[in-house]
Amino acid sequence: MSFQYDDQNIFAKILRGEIPNNTVYESEHALAFRDLYPQAPTHVLVIPKGPYVSLDHFTQDASDVEIAGFMRAIGEVCKLEGVSADGFRAISNAGTNGVQEVPHLHVHILGGRPLGRMLAKES
Ligand code: AMP
Repeated sequence: MSFQYDDQNIFAKILRGEIPNNTVYESEHALAFRDLYPQAPTHVLVIPKGPYVSLDHFTQDASDVEIAGFMRAIGEVCKLEGVSADGFRAISNAGTNGVQEVPHLHVHILGGRPLGRMLAKES
């Protein structure tokens, strides 16, 4: 499968420093920042620095080093945000059915309160 990356998406602009963000963690391969419209007391977005649309794009085309760096960043964010003890949810929406708004891979880390069941019954 071939994926088309739009470098004008808002997270690409954040990575280029063109718009501000509230950074929680940064490494060579990942950036984590607070969601602008938090849906839980903890709501952090973790993104890879490379141009990948979604998790399936990333796992198809990213190097092992990029993948390891990204996954480690998720773990670091959980540690920094203190969500490991009480638990959290990691969500990555992709494409139309996943209702992905920003076409740059991101994992939402949500925590700080009970989050309910995984999916709503309908969209
Ligand atoms: P998704 O629906 O999975 O693509 O989620 C995109 C997320 O990005 C939403 O939760 C938005 O609130 C969040 N978002 C959009 N623009 C920004 C921004 N400039 N800074 C931080 N979060 C943003």
